[in-house]
Amino acid sequence: MVKKQQGYRTSIIHAGTSRETGNVPSAPPIIPSATFVMPPDHVDAYTDPTYDWSRHVEEAESVTEYARHSNPTVRMLEKKVAAAEGADSAAVFGSGMAAASAVLLHRLRAGDRLVLADVCYVAVSEFAHDTLSGLGVEVVRVDPTDLEAVQSAATSNTKLIYIESPTNPIMRLTDIAAVAEIARSVGAETVVDSTFATPLATRPLDLGADWVIHSLTKYFSGHGDALGGAVVGSKDRIRALWQDSRIKQGGVLSPFDAWLIARGMDTLPIRMAVHETSAFAVARFLEAHPKVIRVMYPGLPSHPQHELAKRQMANMSGMLTFQVDDGPKLARIMARHLEVFQFAVSLGQQRSLLFYLPEERIGQPPFHLSETALRGYKTYAGNGIFRVSIGLEDAEDLCGDLAACLSHMP
Ligand SMILES: *Cc1c(COP(=O)(O)O)cnc(C)c1O
Repeated sequence: MVKKQQGYRTSIIHAGTSRETGNVPSAPPIIPSATFVMPPDHVDAYTDPTYDWSRHVEEAESVTEYARHSNPTVRMLEKKVAAAEGADSAAVFGSGMAAASAVLLHRLRAGDRLVLADVCYVAVSEFAHDTLSGLGVEVVRVDPTDLEAVQSAATSNTKLIYIESPTNPIMRLTDIAAVAEIARSVGAETVVDSTFATPLATRPLDLGADWVIHSLTKYFSGHGDALGGAVVGSKDRIRALWQDSRIKQGGVLSPFDAWLIARGMDTLPIRMAVHETSAFAVARFLEAHPKVIRVMYPGLPSHPQHELAKRQMANMSGMLTFQVDDGPKLARIMARHLEVFQFAVSLGQQRSLLFYLPEERIGQPPFHLSETALRGYKTYAGNGIFRVSIGLEDAEDLCGDLAACLSHMP
């Protein structure tokens, strides 16, 4: 019998879970054990003087020794994440930042150049400037929508080009295929933080990227009750990362959080469909509102990169930003009067969240923006933005909540 390729939702739900029959649990178990009893044939093998220790890593995938190396619940999540990205392999970490810093520390050495998007997740920006520069890595910031600038920044000592699409918080997109081609032309690798997009929108590996990073805390978990991160890539790359970062740096994910995220992931495809539909409804409502100056949502024709969004995002996701004349005033009103949204950072969960990012904050050290980068930032974020994560509530309630707050504005 020829095995039929499973559908996308089936593969996410079933990847990494047991197909045993009989008196076995239907739901995947949580295995919190820190260590695992060694099977006798494994002990026989490695006590043999001719044992090939280079095989040890490969065997660690089937023989679990110690939970910092591998754990069955964590392994299940890794198979689900790989299935979601249509990739060979994934390694999960204790947070999105643990995943991002693992790849950066794994691939970069003193004297190497990192080409980093001028606007990216703020902790990545800080890590590059404070930690990587301190280790002798040359960090060069570019506007990744300016492909000529990316090309000229990509010198022969460039090891990684690191981008994020759409970018947190300004909703700017990057043409992943174009940047990956530039990276390849100088023998560098491309890293894409795809947290905002999710694999429902974009598969960076199919576009030529080498590494994909997700904050699993966001859409993958989907319920705002667990922190986690993932790196996705080819089997060889993930194995080397796993040995280097997971085993030596040790930023592992706990089995309980892996279990929560795996549980959330089963509904990732259907949740993303609802996030997208509601985000469209809220984006259109805001765009039509007289007190709103501008809305940034990749799904709207008014987004400056809408054509790229149509090409690169099969789902427009649930993230948007908007601007009003007096952002600080609306922020203070919202913090007191919102009834459905929560005024909180983070994103990608069932509850809708929003927060306000004032212009003054952007010019400050953690963002490390040059004058030109700041100008680029402002073309997307004006004098301050509300970043909105559309949850799974009814879209009419979300629009009503925003309308009530906007009605307090002069
Ligand atoms: C949240 C986030 C991260 C960091 O993830 P944590 O799980 O909070 O460590 C990285 N990149 C993006 C785009 C994010 O939104």
